[in-house]
Amino acid sequence: MNFFKRLFSFGKKKKEDEVESDVNQSLDSEEVVEEDKLELKNKKIKREPEPAPEPEPEPEPEPEPEPEPDPEPDPEPDPEPDPEPDPEPEPEPEPEPELKKPTSFFKRLFKKTDKKKLDKSLEKTSKSFLEKLKTVVLGKSTVDAAVLDDLEEILITSDVGVETTLKIIDAIEERVKNEKYTNAQELDLILKEEIQNIIYDEKDSSIFELKDKPHVIMVVGVNGVGKTTSIGKLAKFFSSQGLSVLIGAADTFRAAAIEQLEMWAERADVEIVKQNMGSDPASVAYDTLNSALNKNYDVVIIDTAGRLHNKINLMTELSKIGRVMNKLVHNAPHEIILVLDGSTGQNAFEQAKQFSEATKVTSLMVTKLDGTAKGGVVIGISDQLSVPVKYIGTGEKIDDIELFDKKDFVESFFNKN
Ligand code: GDP
Ligand code: GDP
Ligand code: MG
Repeated sequence: MNFFKRLFSFGKKKKEDEVESDVNQSLDSEEVVEEDKLELKNKKIKREPEPAPEPEPEPEPEPEPEPEPDPEPDPEPDPEPDPEPDPEPEPEPEPEPELKKPTSFFKRLFKKTDKKKLDKSLEKTSKSFLEKLKTVVLGKSTVDAAVLDDLEEILITSDVGVETTLKIIDAIEERVKNEKYTNAQELDLILKEEIQNIIYDEKDSSIFELKDKPHVIMVVGVNGVGKTTSIGKLAKFFSSQGLSVLIGAADTFRAAAIEQLEMWAERADVEIVKQNMGSDPASVAYDTLNSALNKNYDVVIIDTAGRLHNKINLMTELSKIGRVMNKLVHNAPHEIILVLDGSTGQNAFEQAKQFSEATKVTSLMVTKLDGTAKGGVVIGISDQLSVPVKYIGTGEKIDDIELFDKKDFVESFFNKN
């Protein structure tokens, strides 16, 4: 991994230089964290061992000292010679001009499901579901149309959602037709399998691809769903995986939001970039990314305000944040995590729809699964949106987060204890 990291910073050098002039600009005009100045100074010293100790505010934008043979005695055999001097930061998606080395590296996020915690979180959900299921099959020997009707109702009242429920019922009907001896007592086994089949997931959601460094995650969702809390949890989780994390406080709508995020950053023991309440969220995002590039962070997590009262506003704000970050990191944000409050059942469905119309949601974090009987919402939501649930929140504390694993989830969902 070190090898890749080094390649990375090597390939990025030119880009950083470009960025630097921006930084200087913003040092004059805007309040930028004091540390950044220090960091910049350090960097200059590091990067240019030759005399040229030019004064802080560079006199003119002189033509960049072109990539002269790397001064550092780098033992790595450079795979491609790539001498391309192309100066324009083309926004083409494919070739990634500035990052021409094999920059992408994968990190496997690892977190063994805490089965006990998951069982406990889903206790209410599974209890209520299994009790209902029991009454359906009580005294029945075969899975007939009446049983399927009842089952349909149970799934719908368990917040699975109508469309997903219909898919599950169809699948079961098909199976019953083909497997002649289906006993009603086996219904829970069949159901379990079909539910597992229907939950949408990624090939391997534990793969974390650092295509660009930093890897930028924007967290969206309406107020109160648990965004800020989830960011704290994610920050601690990523840093426990050996990734360095920087948080950006781009929910500038309320002062309390910034303070709250600071508290979580402290708990997670990661740094945070903030501005005053009311400042432009895009500006905070820019500062955060800038700082992350300067300090070589692996992961950036951007908090956002959750006002949904007007979809156009939301769309405008989120895409502005994206556009501004794109100036610094190609393709940022790489991930847009929509946080949904699992205890709101059908409301969560509605929010999910609205948000995915406003922005390109790439994954879901479903919170507050502890203490609700509406956990069935997880089953339908990812199916309906074709967006994977990646994390779930199982409590108010920083470690109350699980990497979503559909098999474990379904096991707990059908847990009889
Ligand atoms: P935001 O407005 O979306 O940023 O939401 P907050 O992070 O401020 O959280 C709102 C409330 O939800 C807080 O009281 C949190 O403690 C609570 N919360 C967040 N995640 C969870 C969770 O997974 N389980 C439980 N029980 N509470 C949660
Ligand atoms: P506007 O300033 O509201 O018209 O929107 P922009 O899309 O230009 O950028 C929003 C904010 O992001 C700005 O106010 C800056 O704080 C920040 N920003 C955007 N582009 C740059 C840049 O090139 N350099 C610096 N230093 N900040 C930028
Ligand atoms: Mg918040």
